[in-house]
Amino acid sequence: MFNRVAFVTGASRGIGRAIGLTLCRSGFYIVVASPEIEKNEEVAEEIRASSGEAMTLNFDVTSAESVKAGIAKVVAEKTRIDVLVNNAGIARDALAMRMKQADWDLVLQLNLTGAFLCCQQVLPLMMRNRWGRIVNISSVVGQAGSAGQANYAASKAGLIGMTKSIAQEMATRGITVNAIAPGYIETDMTRKLPEEVRAKYLASVPMGRIGQPEDIAAAVKFLASEDAGYITGQVLAVNGGMYM
Ligand code: NDP
Repeated sequence: MFNRVAFVTGASRGIGRAIGLTLCRSGFYIVVASPEIEKNEEVAEEIRASSGEAMTLNFDVTSAESVKAGIAKVVAEKTRIDVLVNNAGIARDALAMRMKQADWDLVLQLNLTGAFLCCQQVLPLMMRNRWGRIVNISSVVGQAGSAGQANYAASKAGLIGMTKSIAQEMATRGITVNAIAPGYIETDMTRKLPEEVRAKYLASVPMGRIGQPEDIAAAVKFLASEDAGYITGQVLAVNGGMYM
């Protein structure tokens, strides 16, 4: 029990929290890796309360030093990382004409470069074990585009290209690399959108309901499992039919 380690970035709340809670029930030891240690501890406590095991990391994907040091700490304590879920993400929306370069840079740095840095650090560990699962949390916006989100859409489309490239590099090594493209999911990220935007998103979901973080976590659980061993380089849309 708990000999496989799952490293989840942005696990302090929302989709990342649900992924941690779901994977712990599949027997994974969970690394809760986000910038705020107190929030991470709350999630780790929830994991322990559901008979799971977890450690927390004060972890910032925008800092190469933080990524290196955090992953080194996990290796020092647990010797391995079997599953990496690149879930940390932010949005800084504006029409392209008005978008500040700082917001373009930050979103690309955090959502895309951050995921790349994490992949770079865990791949040698996975190669050593000849087993690994990387799941990158992209977005329907990376597939379909979205007015007012050029930076976010570029970062999420970039994750898809990165997923397919690393999947090819790792295909003979027992390591699968896949992306999940969530649709409209109920978290802090979408709760703060104006009511009319939320209504517009909901109207575009054929299933007629907003997705829950657990809907995404269930897909991660599958892609992280032995059963998904012949699936790599794929983008799994979990969006209630929002984009087909
Ligand atoms: P939330 O805003 O609820 O949570 C974001 C998480 O990312 C938090 O844990 C946050 O930590 C963490 N985070 C922020 N900055 C950093 C950083 N520099 N380093 C590490 N972690 C960081 O987002 P969601 O749960 O909604 O989204 C999770 C992922 O799913 C994101 O990649 C998002 O783009 C994607 N997604 C979400 C959709 C939705 O409808 N909600 C739809 C499609 C994709 P802290 O708590 O400390 O701020």
